[in-house]
Amino acid sequence: MCAEPLLRVEGVCAKYGDFLAVAGASFEVPAQSIVSVIGANGAGKSTLMDCIAGVHKPVSGRILFKGEDITGLSPNGVVAKRLALVPQGSRCFTRMTVEHNLLMGAYPKHARAGRGERLEKVYELFPMLREKRKDLSGSLSGGQRQMVAIGRALMSAPELILFDEISLGLAPTVIKDIYQRIRAINREGVSVVLVEQDVARSKKTSAYSYIMLRGEMVLSGPSKELDDEKVKNAYFGVR
Ligand code: ATP
Repeated sequence: MCAEPLLRVEGVCAKYGDFLAVAGASFEVPAQSIVSVIGANGAGKSTLMDCIAGVHKPVSGRILFKGEDITGLSPNGVVAKRLALVPQGSRCFTRMTVEHNLLMGAYPKHARAGRGERLEKVYELFPMLREKRKDLSGSLSGGQRQMVAIGRALMSAPELILFDEISLGLAPTVIKDIYQRIRAINREGVSVVLVEQDVARSKKTSAYSYIMLRGEMVLSGPSKELDDEKVKNAYFGVR
């Protein structure tokens, strides 16, 4: 796809006990791009993202970020390389205010300088978060919490963000809104991996798509060129 991608995942395998959840998955993310990883429930998408983010240790394969092997780094080590994960389920610290949640994202050493400016940028991107900055995150709606989770990732000054099924359980209008912000984040130069079950939405937003099935990438190509029928068959494992 590209000679020197920002992220290169090479043949990653990951297990839960004896169960192989990721079975030699490979994919690439060129700098400044939006890439989709699409797959049904249980395809292994979250496990793969967790491997990249240092949350789950792969049993084999390599993860290269900016040409450097980051396989097996701790989650903090990965964030320090400027790679952030927005995990599934809009996780935030519910007993902390919105602003404290956001500032937690700038806790890593590399992210402390310029955190005031980044906070301002997050508030420009999500004006609702500025309005609610003193409210406890636990009082927010699901969509608003998702915005906090995205804002917190941005506070770590990432060059690449992995969004793991951020639309799960949200109303269509909220999803549309969040996707617009993701495009705006990308326009600012941050590369994006969109993990999705929704084929149409992720294809529409990304330049390149990978379809994941049973732990492997079974189809990939420029999102606009991928044939819908082939995508459907790959998604459901129809031969
Ligand atoms: P979803 O869209 O449902 O999140 P996914 O594509 O992200 O699915 P994973 O969550 O990575 O898939 O799960 C891949 C496989 O690993 C599934 O079969 C799942 O049941 C299994 N799995 C996930 N987490 C665990 C765990 N903690 N222990 C055991 N098996 C797990």
